[in-house]
Amino acid sequence: MTMDELTEYMMGKGLAKFRAKQVYEWMHKHFIFDASLMTNLSNADREKIKDDLPVIEEETRLVSKKDGTIKFLMKMPDGQMIETVFMRYHHGNSVCISSQAGCRMGCRFCASTIGGLVRNLEPSEMLYQVYHAMKATGERVSNIVIMGTGEPLDNYDNVLRFIDLITSENGYNLSERSITLSSCGLVPKIRELADRKLQITFALSLHATTDEERRSLMPVAERYNLKETLEACRYYFDVTGRRLTFEYSLVRGVNDSEDHARRLSALIRGMNAHVNLIPVNPVEERKYKGTASAEVEKFKNILEKNRINVTIRKGMGSDIDAACGQLRRKYGKIQEKS
Ligand code: SF4
Repeated sequence: MTMDELTEYMMGKGLAKFRAKQVYEWMHKHFIFDASLMTNLSNADREKIKDDLPVIEEETRLVSKKDGTIKFLMKMPDGQMIETVFMRYHHGNSVCISSQAGCRMGCRFCASTIGGLVRNLEPSEMLYQVYHAMKATGERVSNIVIMGTGEPLDNYDNVLRFIDLITSENGYNLSERSITLSSCGLVPKIRELADRKLQITFALSLHATTDEERRSLMPVAERYNLKETLEACRYYFDVTGRRLTFEYSLVRGVNDSEDHARRLSALIRGMNAHVNLIPVNPVEERKYKGTASAEVEKFKNILEKNRINVTIRKGMGSDIDAACGQLRRKYGKIQEKS
């Protein structure tokens, strides 16, 4: 709820108007969602609101011994498990959140989609992932990437409401520029998002340089070809003025040759864009393997020669199943067995 909505809700429950500000602060400044801990409310007032607050719990967490990355498995009010990753970079802490339980996009290199889409996450469930990471670590978060399980533009209204809430000046007040939304390329929604003129970073999961290859990796490419997808990205830049990011997962022997690097350069030349190369994490259920680091460097050099702005994504938490969907799946299997 926004502050106005919360005020209306509180008054509807018979609480004084000023209580809304207190409850809002508990949630958005102290990250407390449990009414029994809201100590400046009377017991009677706590009773009136306690059943409407989301009960989200940490089920388990894995901490990387390599870089301190933490992966949380969170249990939603209906028992759905979702993953959130907290990463420490030199420029600040970043949280990667999930926007759906499961995903129906079917990208072949991804573990999150194997069981299909279960449901969309509520804005509160996305907020809580960020807040829980801060509460658990005692550290502030300066960047949010909506890049975990789910296709954010397939849960458009809830994701936009989440962005609205986390950037609200009454709440955590994060700058829009500190948020990256990553999509596999739902073209009409990219255009709709552009028209909202938010200052968030838009990242497209590109992963291929021809329609045929993209179709073999990502079923979404059956619906939208590369030309119209890149045109939508150009539109996003024209309307918002925000530099684009192209995510390119390198899959060994599939899309990581020198020809691919040259074709990729040609595709996006002249766009105000940045390429993020991601050596894929191997997924047990998929046959895809990551590209060796010398080959990744070679790929990067070709892009640079073509004056494309490029970085290699640092593999965070590779020892803790940090690739999207892997912990959630593993947990599901453990539950099935027991
Ligand atoms: S990569 Fe993203 S959009 Fe594709 S299946 Fe996985 S979660 Fe869904």
